[in-house]
Amino acid sequence: MYNCEIICVGTELLLGDILNTDAQFLSKELASMGIAVLHQSVVGDNKKRLKKELETALSRSDIVITSGGLGPTPDDITREVCCDVMGFETELNKPILNNIKSYFEGKNKKMPESNKKQAYVPIGGVVFENTNGTAPGAAMERDGKCMIILPGPPNELKPMFINQVKPLLQKYSSGAIVSHTVRTMGIGESAMAELVGDLLDNENPTVAPYAKNGEALLRITAKSDSEENANSLCVPMLSLIRQRLGNYVYGIDVDSIEQRVVELLIEKEQTIALAESCTAGYISKRITDVPGSSKVFECGIVSYSDKVKIKLLGISPETFMHHGVVSEQTAKEMAKNVRIVGNSNIGIGITGVAGPGSDENSNPAGIIYIALAGEDSVYVEKLETNKPHNREYNRFVASSVALNIVRLYLEGCLL
Ligand code: ATP
Ligand code: MG
Repeated sequence: MYNCEIICVGTELLLGDILNTDAQFLSKELASMGIAVLHQSVVGDNKKRLKKELETALSRSDIVITSGGLGPTPDDITREVCCDVMGFETELNKPILNNIKSYFEGKNKKMPESNKKQAYVPIGGVVFENTNGTAPGAAMERDGKCMIILPGPPNELKPMFINQVKPLLQKYSSGAIVSHTVRTMGIGESAMAELVGDLLDNENPTVAPYAKNGEALLRITAKSDSEENANSLCVPMLSLIRQRLGNYVYGIDVDSIEQRVVELLIEKEQTIALAESCTAGYISKRITDVPGSSKVFECGIVSYSDKVKIKLLGISPETFMHHGVVSEQTAKEMAKNVRIVGNSNIGIGITGVAGPGSDENSNPAGIIYIALAGEDSVYVEKLETNKPHNREYNRFVASSVALNIVRLYLEGCLL
């Protein structure tokens, strides 16, 4: 297997002004081609340090890819230093110069003289045209090593890599790496790891647990000679994991719980209405973030004050009096009544204390009641986040739990 190394050039990356998304994009693409990325580094706009970094990279890697520093300004030094290290002379490339001139003409501007520098390309190298900007990329091959230089702006680098660099790298591609992500809700990372403990030592595919935004996930990664064969290695492992984790799994390779919920609502031809108190529209926002949600989302009522809960949702003042606003009964009534107000199949009611302090009835922060009303039954769950000071976390987790309740209901596992 050939190995590759990525060097991103730019002082702004070192200062933390911008996030290194180029490295993330390139690593993912290369992994999917079966090219192993063994090192990533960032170096500032400094000739001496870049030269040293490139020499080190060439001494241990077959392919070195740089991003950034191909612009027209004096701090853009990558082209010059890379050509020097690879021993390539440069020459002015007329068609590229004309491309750059017409790029400016397209914007009704005259090309500044400094941009001419970008039309110098390595003699004997491969030139990659820049369809979204001015700086062309290039590839230089010598003594079994390949160096590829790409512009920094992601909207220039990505199409250049996909359309021009990938075909050139095919000859280095040995097989493929395929990854799948199993997403779960309702189980912690360590509890999940216990259920699949023996699988975590597997070699191909590998199984790795991790936690993200209050969810436990498993990444399954297989290597083989082709994408198809790598995928075939994953399939039995994925079904074994599904068996072990059962209803905790809400999806494989889905973006989010809200995406799964909207898919299910559409599939089952069900609509939803929400009455949100402590989450104040968070669940509605997450559902309507998913394209196509307008087919299934009837309404979201942010009923914060008691007055509005009574007036818009028809909650009986006796319920407040006997059980309190933050109670199972209030959540249930909110769910039942918003289902009627929204004329929907499903109603959700959510009431609780987001924090940081307790409410006037001494309910501690992080106590949240979530109810789901269906056609002929009402389900309610009490959530205790145990994070009194983290208002944002409490609201986010409450919205995730509510979405998971909808998912379980639609999958027939709840009532
Ligand atoms: P330009 O012609 O725009 O100067 P360039 O190839 O010289 O392009 P840089 O000057 O290094 O690239 O970066 C230009 C911009 O591209 C940065 O300000 C940043 O917005 C983006 N960029 C550069 N490198 C990266 C990176 N590694 N990840 C994400 N964005 C990046
Ligand atoms: Mg630049």
